[in-house]
Amino acid sequence: MLLPLMIPSLLWAAQPAQPARLVHDHYDRRLAPRLVPLLSEVIRFPTVAGNTKAWTDQKAWLQKLAGDLGFEVRDAGKVMEVDLPATGGRAGAPVLGLLVHGDVQPVDDHWSIPPFSGTVKDGRVLGRGAADDKGPMIQALMAMKALKEAGPARTSTIRLLVGSDEESTNTDITDYLKTNRPPDFSLVLDSAFPVVVGEKAWNALTLATQRPTAPTADRPWTVAALEAGLATSIVPDRAVIRLTSAAGKDPLAALRKRLETRPLDAGCRADFSLTPEGAGASLTVTVHGKAAHGGVNLEGGRNALVALARLLDGELPPGGADDLLAFARQAGRDLYGTGLGLTETDPLWGRCAVNVATLKPEADGSLKLTLNIRATPKRYGSALEAHLRQMVAEFATARHATFSFGGFFGDTPLAFDPQSRLVMRLMADYARATGRADGPAISGGGTYAKRMPHAIAFGMWFPNRPYPGHDVDEQVPIEDLHRGVHVLIETLADLACGEPLKEPFKP
Ligand SMILES: [Zn+2]
Repeated sequence: MLLPLMIPSLLWAAQPAQPARLVHDHYDRRLAPRLVPLLSEVIRFPTVAGNTKAWTDQKAWLQKLAGDLGFEVRDAGKVMEVDLPATGGRAGAPVLGLLVHGDVQPVDDHWSIPPFSGTVKDGRVLGRGAADDKGPMIQALMAMKALKEAGPARTSTIRLLVGSDEESTNTDITDYLKTNRPPDFSLVLDSAFPVVVGEKAWNALTLATQRPTAPTADRPWTVAALEAGLATSIVPDRAVIRLTSAAGKDPLAALRKRLETRPLDAGCRADFSLTPEGAGASLTVTVHGKAAHGGVNLEGGRNALVALARLLDGELPPGGADDLLAFARQAGRDLYGTGLGLTETDPLWGRCAVNVATLKPEADGSLKLTLNIRATPKRYGSALEAHLRQMVAEFATARHATFSFGGFFGDTPLAFDPQSRLVMRLMADYARATGRADGPAISGGGTYAKRMPHAIAFGMWFPNRPYPGHDVDEQVPIEDLHRGVHVLIETLADLACGEPLKEPFKP
């Protein structure tokens, strides 16, 4: 989730700095026509986790391309380095890192176009990785090329680092740092413009229960199966419950009739299927919502699990399934933790973000509910855990439920001083290149900035548009791709040429 804050009083001139002007013109005249074809080409390598051939092929492609563009390429294992050295050689020159990842999220079968064809349509490039993160990879190469051919002298070496497992195991940067020195400071091109001054802390809350469902006279059914969601960081797009009744089909038919007339959450729909088999009669209710990234596009999702929980409010007999669905309703009152008592607001960070993510049977016969909580500096880690323990205990007592409490609370928010030198420079570069005065962003998603020392997320997605990464039909407007290159050119002309920035993270 990105929360761009508008700062209308910014008075930066919307004019590129003079030495950068030539680089911008050079890009528009000579390099811009190459951008879309190159992005289409690189999308054709299906670099999802486990596809070693796609990775090897893409690496060879990138090695050749970077060589043809006149850069120095080094294979550093899980990370590729592409260097544009400082003018006059790199000895003693600081290194400015640009971080992207060359791997992509998997795809499902809901796409309207082939996800790895690099389709260009209606002014957009479509395909897995178009925005996350192959667009930024090509944009960085083009900005570096423009600077090389038409830029002022460089006082820093610019090093593009291309990672390989950001979307899966996420070990590439940590491994790289075991044998390589990090750049003096780095820009992570894998989030939002103008600059991300905060990345929330990732937490998971799990509640498990073994309490059996006990049918009652007016609700003579039990829960035979209950399952929802795919993964903790994805809004669940499907939730299914199967109810069986020893009293035959009639009570379930009456229940179905009631449920069919109940309003369902906006953007969700439900299917009902009644199997009349005497004492084995069963009613299956499936709710369909919309999947979305739980960190950067929570509002774009439609939560099928919370919708199912609301649909069944008051209709289940007492038991663990009803307890967990009641908790899902409570936690899913909104997307910001109101139902969990997480009501604190920070003027910069806003609220925390809560995705009621999965509900699944466990091997030990219990049912487990998992929530994803993206926390702000106001409350995270052990303070967040203690608060939730208390809240869950009170909730359980009130309804005679028993939950075993678990989860992960070990992450910390990554915060930068919005007044630091680097942030101020990046904001000014962005404003000059775009003429826009957008305020710094907070992200619900984590980037390489949490793994690489002295790194901050800078672009390449523009504010006020839902981020398409991880979604079906991932796509990026061509106009935004060119605009992003211009921001990067302005930034490199500022930070990699001229006086090197000392202590970039200090005000
Ligand atoms: Zn990414």
